Amino acid sequence: MEKKALDTSIVTAGRSKKWTQKLVNPPVSRASTIVFDSVADMKESASKRMDKSLFYGRRGTNTHFAFQDAMVELEGGVGCALYPCGTAAISNAILSFVKTGDHILMVDGAYEPTRDFCDKILKNMGVETTYYDPMIGEGLRDLIQPNTSVLFLESPCSITMEVQDVPTLARIAHEQDIVVMLDNTWASPINFQPFEHGVDISVQAATKYVVGHSDVMLGTATANARCWDQLRENSYLMGQCTSPDDVYLAMRGLRTLGVRLKQHEKNALRVAHWLAERDEVDHVRHPALPSCEGHEFFKRDFKGSNGLFSLVLNRGNTEALTALLDGMEHFSMGYSWGGFESLILANENINNLRTAKKKDFAGPMLRLHIGLEDPEDLIRDLELGFERFNAVLNRDER
Ligand SMILES: *Cc1c(COP(=O)(O)O)cnc(C)c1O
Repeated sequence: MEKKALDTSIVTAGRSKKWTQKLVNPPVSRASTIVFDSVADMKESASKRMDKSLFYGRRGTNTHFAFQDAMVELEGGVGCALYPCGTAAISNAILSFVKTGDHILMVDGAYEPTRDFCDKILKNMGVETTYYDPMIGEGLRDLIQPNTSVLFLESPCSITMEVQDVPTLARIAHEQDIVVMLDNTWASPINFQPFEHGVDISVQAATKYVVGHSDVMLGTATANARCWDQLRENSYLMGQCTSPDDVYLAMRGLRTLGVRLKQHEKNALRVAHWLAERDEVDHVRHPALPSCEGHEFFKRDFKGSNGLFSLVLNRGNTEALTALLDGMEHFSMGYSWGGFESLILANENINNLRTAKKKDFAGPMLRLHIGLEDPEDLIRDLELGFERFNAVLNRDER
């Protein structure tokens, strides 16, 4: 197929007539049982059960096949496995490539449930985890053991937003035949091309920007030729399957991903630059700003940013943060992100979630997801929030 411009692929990806049956969108095909016309038909289906063909509901229907094709066209790789959420995609990708006695390298800034998975489930299985500084670079070599089977990256990291030097880390891992996995959720399938940067398996919490409307949980893991057969087979054996209704909504979200991200990016940059000038803010951790660790890798490797970033405050305490957060009008409080709406949360001690390298931050952190509202309304909301925040701190000082 001829290479299309990205915005064109976002519109056309996965819309083969084989899946859509001439409708614009693939129908929502719900199925457990697939029925066959003859013994020969049934045997043929079994013989090509690894292809995208109707076999049994757990293997997917046309709705799933269309979405899988679309993800591969946009993100790259040769195949895409679907999971009921991003966390399932991460745990299944790792479980598909480790056995008892193995060792994995996990980035220190991984999503909190990813760390918990390593500390609890992998540990109980006899798989050892070493957390590494996201900025480790060539130093990664010193952490590799003879039994290291997986290198896991998340770029940018959760909350602290360090952007990793993915090609360098992947090259070092590949020298030892280690499988390289990336949580690519922040970039979505369009702002970072994992397979062009040495990644073997790229995971998405499609729950976030792919779905884009805060109403579906879904995960994907896209793999290159080296890893696809093993990932697909193991995920199938672990019973991973997804509802065609959810996949349909993800496919629908995908069609506006390009325009949504451009608007999230524009709005978030406006808010981030405003925040960077505030007295209350020590520094902003937005990959597109030089104050973010790994900004140089963002500039080199990414096509754009989005609505999610963090900042470190100069000072603050629980009461002042509560006053700020409880009074917000346009920002809601919530753990997720990637929908059309703005979200805020505070993290008072990020070092509870860091073991390889502790952060020496001036004060607590805020994480913002800037939605599609008018950014001037969001700025006014934050300005009033800082007034409440300062009122508590100034009262204490008197
Ligand atoms: C939300 C998130 C996940 C997990 O996705 P779920 O669908 O909520 O399970 C994984 N990685 C990152 C970076 C996330 O933000």
